[in-house]
Amino acid sequence: RPVFLILTAVIAAVIITVVSISVVQNKHILQKYKYGIVLDAGSSHTSVYIYEWPAEKENNTGMVRQTHTCHVKGKGISSYSTIPEKAGMSLQECMEEAKQKIPVARHPETPVYLGATAGMRLLKMDNEDASNKVLASVTNSLKKYPFSFQGARIILGQEEGAFGWITVNYLSDNFRKAMGTLGALDLGGASTQITFIPKQEIESQDNTIDFRLYGNDYHLYTHSFLCFGKDQVLRLSLAEKSRYTLDKNNSTLSDPCFHTGYNSSKKYMDVFDTPCVKEKSALPKDFIHVGLGDWAECQNSVKKVFDASHCRYSTCSFDGVFQPSVEGKFGAFSAFYFVMDFLNLTSGTLEDAKLKMRRYCSTPWKDIVQRYPKILEKYLSEYCFSGTYILTLLEHGYKFTSNNWKDIQFIKKIGDSDAGWTLGYMLNLTNMIPAEAPDVPLMPHG
Ligand code: AMP
Repeated sequence: RPVFLILTAVIAAVIITVVSISVVQNKHILQKYKYGIVLDAGSSHTSVYIYEWPAEKENNTGMVRQTHTCHVKGKGISSYSTIPEKAGMSLQECMEEAKQKIPVARHPETPVYLGATAGMRLLKMDNEDASNKVLASVTNSLKKYPFSFQGARIILGQEEGAFGWITVNYLSDNFRKAMGTLGALDLGGASTQITFIPKQEIESQDNTIDFRLYGNDYHLYTHSFLCFGKDQVLRLSLAEKSRYTLDKNNSTLSDPCFHTGYNSSKKYMDVFDTPCVKEKSALPKDFIHVGLGDWAECQNSVKKVFDASHCRYSTCSFDGVFQPSVEGKFGAFSAFYFVMDFLNLTSGTLEDAKLKMRRYCSTPWKDIVQRYPKILEKYLSEYCFSGTYILTLLEHGYKFTSNNWKDIQFIKKIGDSDAGWTLGYMLNLTNMIPAEAPDVPLMPHG
């Protein structure tokens, strides 16, 4: 009997010790990392990013990494303009997921930022009241979570460009090593951004941003072209085509940027109801979009959206916007990557890319559908247009040439983290990249 009692006591003591050690260890692990959440409310969709960094090394650059992404179901928040209360609701699933992914003890100190980009800039231009209601709806929804909500706002095009640049250079460790920097090319559905350190003087104030990071001064050129995201340019170029390629009933729009055999009934409102299309088309409420599969004609039609007729600076990209010559290496991400990766154009020369596009665009629609049965039809039908737009924007818009084409790297991620403005935005708002380098010598880290 006494032996049995002693044995039971010993076993109980061992269990208590093991459990308490593991609780202490877990707590230690939980306390080791801090977290931040950024919602990228883009024109076509919203993504929620969770970042993590070691708690004691907050000011060592290079420490923050993306640990989780959640894609919000449905379209971007600007699509809720007539039902704003649903915009906030749409975020719930991903925010619940964030609650599961981040240790409970860290919830109250985890900052949450929502940044909306060009889709909301356009809605604000069209209907400011609706845009305020959508922002109020997402604010309301995000405040209900146990995190530290820091605000939902429409970010400026300059911020979108500059923070994308900070992201790619932070992830490449260029600040810590004081290496040359990587320019940033970002393509969304409603706008596109170009950001780099030029050799020439920056002639317009609107295109300048200065940062002091880790003991170095960076003088950036940046521009965001509203309406030059790939979805808005598709609409613009359809409007342009509808001026001269309508059939006699004005009901069929023939389009060289879509494959032969492509034939789809579309609603006028879905295509042309945007502040980006100023000259409205003669098309009726419903029209038929028919493909011609002609790359050369497609490129001719895309070129027409770039206005090179005026420039009051020494050099311009297009639409009278100042741009110095592109300089150094560039990372091209978001839709630049999605499209070029699909088309197998992330390596090779500019001439190769044009040849491949010519072949791809002339492939009949039925063969394309057969070859890629798993790809969403909307994306699939648009790759000929999108690829042509990307080549034209880079060559004729930004003035890349056959010689420096190789300097553009099409990238999705660097390490674990997506290239995009969200990480740079959080690093900036949490002051996580110090202006001055610490005195201690740099230690290599993985
Ligand atoms: P935004 O929503 O403004 O960030 O824009 C993202 C753009 O990328 C939109 O034009 C989307 O249609 C496009 N996009 C996203 N995923 C893909 C994909 N897999 N293939 C082609 N385009 C994509």
